Amino acid sequence: MKIAVYNYREFDEGAYFEKFSKIYNVEIVRIDDAPDLQNANLAKGCFGVSVITTAITKDIIQTWSHLGIKHISTRTIGYDHIDLESAKDLGMTVSNVTYSTASVANYTVMLILMALRKMKMVMRRAVGFDYSLENSIGMELENKTVGVVGTGAIGQKVIQNLSGFGCKIIATDPFIKKEVTKYAQYVSLEKLIKESDIITFHVPALEDTYHIVRQETIDQMKDGVILVNTARGSVINTTDLIKNLENGKIGACALDVIENELGLYYQDYKYQVIGNHELSILRDMPNVLLTPHLAFYTEQAVSDMVENSIASIVASFNGEENKFKIC
Ligand code: NAD
Repeated sequence: MKIAVYNYREFDEGAYFEKFSKIYNVEIVRIDDAPDLQNANLAKGCFGVSVITTAITKDIIQTWSHLGIKHISTRTIGYDHIDLESAKDLGMTVSNVTYSTASVANYTVMLILMALRKMKMVMRRAVGFDYSLENSIGMELENKTVGVVGTGAIGQKVIQNLSGFGCKIIATDPFIKKEVTKYAQYVSLEKLIKESDIITFHVPALEDTYHIVRQETIDQMKDGVILVNTARGSVINTTDLIKNLENGKIGACALDVIENELGLYYQDYKYQVIGNHELSILRDMPNVLLTPHLAFYTEQAVSDMVENSIASIVASFNGEENKFKIC
């Protein structure tokens, strides 16, 4: 059975594709670029395609369907980049993957600590030999209330990690998880927004998580609140975020994800104009940490992604139960 792997990255995924294609007895068709209408036909003869977070549009899905592709697997947890309705209409199945939750959870804690210790400016100043103390005083996590929005796989791990720091942890999620109640108190989103010094997001991009952070909710937050987003850009209204960073209501933020990042992150823009005004404004703020959607990026996570993407297409091919299936 053949699998077309788009955005194939030799430098980090190559060794794992070699290893797991042997274990699962599949042939990999390597395609280095993101899928588009020009290269969609390279998947001809494959049962499934493996993709990452680039736009998987109706046109591409239709082309694959005509070629006989039956399954789309994204080597990511998030799947909002795939037109699921089109895939469903054409009778194709779609799956995502799970991978080491420590990857994003550890990264989230790092971002929280970096924001509290003003690390962006401390490091920037040190590059210019400015070793003065003025304006670099930080804050300690132990004295803070951290609000965790979403207590799924990653949110739970974040809470477990944070429990070692002695901070107060409150959380919100429509589904209460018993393990979480060992370390955190469940509250409503409204209460969490009002009482948190730091708010960290671990929810998927859904209709009801769209712009959880907007002017109306920012008004309810504590002055100087710190926002951390390693979930999806759509959770935060970037225009309102900038306005409230400029007027000082929001004290700092750390964003591994941002609205309109598709097509920008994972590319080298060194010699190009990025053409994203909001990102350009945020980049220059001393209290805003930006990273290009790589919280997941560890050796263990990449190994898990490759293996689970192959395993999911194989399960679908064999007509077995596919625990990664979305639709
Ligand atoms: P998950 O599905 O295990 O957990 C999501 C949780 O959010 C669930 O418990 C769900 O009940 C909860 N939820 C849904 N709507 C909610 C709402 N309105 N309010 C509060 N909670 C709500 O997902 P996960 O594996 O924990 O991942 C969380 C998100 O992190 C993913 O959706 C993905 O977008 C993002 N992510 C980012 C990276 C990265 O590199 N930055 C990597 C992996 C995942």
